[in-house]
Amino acid sequence: MARLFCPVCGKRVERLYNGMCEECYKKTHPLINIPSKPIDIIVCPICGSYRIGKKWYNPKIQGDFSEIFTKNLSKKLEINGVLKNIKVLDDSIASILDLKKGSIIVSIEGRVTSELSYYEEKYAIPIKLIFKFCPKCIDIKSKKKMAKIQVRARNRNFTRQEISKIEKIVNETLGELYRSDKSAVPVEVTVKENIIDYTFSSQKVARSVALRLKKFLGAELLETFKDAGISDRGRKLSKITYRILLPEFREGDIVGFKGKMYYVVDLTNKQMKLLSLTDYSIRNVSLTKSLVNSVNVIEKRESISYALVLSIVPPYVQVMCLDKGYLIKEIWLPKIPKWIEEGKKIGYITIDDSIFLIPIKDVP
Ligand SMILES: [Zn+2]
Ligand SMILES: [Zn+2]
Repeated sequence: MARLFCPVCGKRVERLYNGMCEECYKKTHPLINIPSKPIDIIVCPICGSYRIGKKWYNPKIQGDFSEIFTKNLSKKLEINGVLKNIKVLDDSIASILDLKKGSIIVSIEGRVTSELSYYEEKYAIPIKLIFKFCPKCIDIKSKKKMAKIQVRARNRNFTRQEISKIEKIVNETLGELYRSDKSAVPVEVTVKENIIDYTFSSQKVARSVALRLKKFLGAELLETFKDAGISDRGRKLSKITYRILLPEFREGDIVGFKGKMYYVVDLTNKQMKLLSLTDYSIRNVSLTKSLVNSVNVIEKRESISYALVLSIVPPYVQVMCLDKGYLIKEIWLPKIPKWIEEGKKIGYITIDDSIFLIPIKDVP
């Protein structure tokens, strides 16, 4: 039989808290002090990020107001004792979004004194929803052009594959960045056969994209700065241009490298596979900046001519040119590579009256 009784409600209990039973104690000691004025909740109408104090936060899921309300309340509510958890009850969110103000119903878990174990209490908290553009969205909206990426190919147009590769790299990189950075959206895009430009309001975003392009294209990257006046806060501003230059040579071109002539068999972002046109040996070289600069294009792949292999009698190969009046020529080849077969179409180029035979990947 309980020996104590509560002076407030008269109930007999085992234990008193500050002279009251547990229930009366909780009633007179709420977990929070309900604010007298509505709590301002500041949200960006474009990207859904929210501001607490001076800092803007991105919700984990865009448009998730329960996270926005919970984070705001846990920072702004006056808590008595220890707070363990705040949960916004979903059905109270919809009416707030409609009217931009009202009360949200929250379930608060905590305890006012360590003598009690944790318990939950429900409260209606007055709030006011305020929509304000975040700094990133202001920049994007005002189309501040702070950084530009220019992709070019040296002395030539892009190939179709290059254009789609570049677009894919840029879009994938922006998609990844956008999850945590809402300024990962280009302000301007130009894609032409010889010009690919992306303009961003964020220099950080442009830099990430430029580095990714450099890595996956094996291209040169050049950074230039231009003075852009003073910011609202008095900081010196500069515009950045990232210039990405693709090498002149492509797969299928005939190039000169260290005094020898090669056919470019394969080109990745790191390596180039070359076929020597004098002895048909294969050579793999790493695509370093100095290598790219020491390779010159002798013949573009578009200007390679075609021939039909008529007969092979080592060390001679007889071909019929398919473009110059069907001339028949005999070429002396001490080593005959496998891809030269009777009846097959191959490529060739003529340099200083000598004919060089070339394999072709796709016969047009
Ligand atoms: Zn009581
Ligand atoms: Zn925003």
